[in-house]
Amino acid sequence: MIWDTHAHLDDPRFQKKYFAGVSERARLAGVTRITNVGFNLPSSQRSVQLAQDHEFIYAAIGVHPHNAVEVTADTWPALLQLAKKPKVLAWGEIGLDYYRNLSPRPTQKEVFIQQIELANQAGLPIVIHSRDAYDDVMKIVQEYPPAHGGAFHCYSSSWEMAKVFLKQGFYLSFAGPLTYKNARHTVEVARNIPLDRFFVETDSPYLTPEPYRGQRNEPAFVREVIARMAEIRAMSFEQIAALATDNARRFFRTD
Ligand SMILES: [Zn+2]
Ligand SMILES: [Zn+2]
Repeated sequence: MIWDTHAHLDDPRFQKKYFAGVSERARLAGVTRITNVGFNLPSSQRSVQLAQDHEFIYAAIGVHPHNAVEVTADTWPALLQLAKKPKVLAWGEIGLDYYRNLSPRPTQKEVFIQQIELANQAGLPIVIHSRDAYDDVMKIVQEYPPAHGGAFHCYSSSWEMAKVFLKQGFYLSFAGPLTYKNARHTVEVARNIPLDRFFVETDSPYLTPEPYRGQRNEPAFVREVIARMAEIRAMSFEQIAALATDNARRFFRTD
């Protein structure tokens, strides 16, 4: 059993005519669970709908730092309502993105902090997106610690920084970039991370792993991330897959 802990199957590139093929290839690849992650209110609603319609899909809800400017007075009450729906396992993806800066940084910070507090209130762990912003993310999670756990999706900073987050109880998730030739930092993190604190994801349709780079990503390709981790740790594919899934179960608090 393999759990792709971060995907965006509500993306237009997967709907409608592609969805059946993508699901079938995931099933054949042994991917029996997918967490579909929201990035704003409509995509969070779509995530919850996908989780209702498909047994193998679970939902995370939240507002991505790119979309922080979209937040209105109605956003938080609507997300708090969604948080109560079955199969909603986490609040995310939330965080800071200083690479693209699609929302002003002060707005990103404010919306990130507000959502940590909402997740705490809703009893959910948080899923963090951080790009070129790890120092500020660290300050924020130290001042506003998530009460029900947290994970970094597609962790991309140093092992030095990873140690601080691990000490605070965070999980780190690996995606396609682990398979890239220039992934020196990420490989170092994968080599050193305690085996009870990582899981795997695709971030489909983005971040396609080798050898499929250049194509649209899909959950079946999470096998490449597991295979690379197995190579780095000198363990079997099956061992890494089982550990990643156990860790995801513990993080998402589900059997
Ligand atoms: Zn992200
Ligand atoms: Zn994502």
